[in-house]
Amino acid sequence: MITVRDRAMMARAIQLAWRGQYSTHPNPRVGCVIARGGTIVGEGWHERAGEAHAEVRALSQAGQDARGATAYVTLEPCSHFGRTPPCARALIDAGVTHVFAATTDPNPSVSGRGLAMLRDAGIKVTEGLLSDEAGQLNPGFMKRMKTGRPWVRLKMAASLDGRTAMASGESQWITGADSRRDVQRLRAMSDAILTGVGTVLADDPSLTVRREELGDIGESTEPSRQPLRVIADRDARTPTGSKILRGGNVQVFCASSTLATAPAQDLAALGISLTGVAWKDNGIDVAELLDALGELGINELLVEAGPTLAGTFISEGLVDELWLYQAPVFLGSTGRPTANLPLESMADKVQWKVLDRRQVGEDQRLILARR
Ligand SMILES: [Zn+2]
Repeated sequence: MITVRDRAMMARAIQLAWRGQYSTHPNPRVGCVIARGGTIVGEGWHERAGEAHAEVRALSQAGQDARGATAYVTLEPCSHFGRTPPCARALIDAGVTHVFAATTDPNPSVSGRGLAMLRDAGIKVTEGLLSDEAGQLNPGFMKRMKTGRPWVRLKMAASLDGRTAMASGESQWITGADSRRDVQRLRAMSDAILTGVGTVLADDPSLTVRREELGDIGESTEPSRQPLRVIADRDARTPTGSKILRGGNVQVFCASSTLATAPAQDLAALGISLTGVAWKDNGIDVAELLDALGELGINELLVEAGPTLAGTFISEGLVDELWLYQAPVFLGSTGRPTANLPLESMADKVQWKVLDRRQVGEDQRLILARR
């Protein structure tokens, strides 16, 4: 039987897991609560890859009180020796008698093994409590383990008339300061940010997380790294002096035939990684790009691109969430669209459902998913 108290304890574990929202890459966000009756005797969350897992932190806080206690974990405890010993073993050794796991490990090669290890040791195991809420912690980790590809968020900033820039390309500051802070948080949550060379040439963005613009992140662990910046650039046209190349941590995807050219070698000389992928008439082969990013351990990808790349992601049905920031302004009918989608008839329209709608300063933010 699952009680109101059990739900409250798991909700606390989920809350703790969110503290790792900017820092656990490429590991999942995980929280753990150890309780005896209605009293929490230990709690923890995973902060960074290579550091203690949530269960180990909670158990060390609980000490001897873990004996006979119940553990609430947002993800199935690990069963294998990775960078740290298996958490299932630690729970057994500590004498925990009941484990609630909100979600099972999505990795097909280990899924269920941690729970089996606990059951074999005589521990009662309850699966699935608050599984939807716990799943939302790690959409990218879950998807990558199952499909090999990252979770894709496409971010757009547009006017009331759906324009992102003037026809001239002039585009600075359509949305307000609150939206820009929100985007900083979105970037900080992401493992990688993708843009196209067209945007690099037109806007020269840095696409970094600026800590001072993130604002107060509460009890979340400080971000310890910049997201990988990824450029789709068939002919290696990214200028060597671009802001996006500063500080390294950049991956360029170009055509395979470009790799041996002088511009590609100039970028490589700067320490930039270049990988050759297939290109189609309408641009990069996005499916192949996502496979490659999955292999690099990218769980959550943020796409901040111009209308060509954005249009490709949409038309190929490869967007998991569309984040649209809409400013209360008209840019006029000659302005640039958010996405190039040459649709012919109403039957071709691309429909979305609204997952979340809120006011961000003067702007409106919509989170949408394909219908
Ligand atoms: Zn573990």
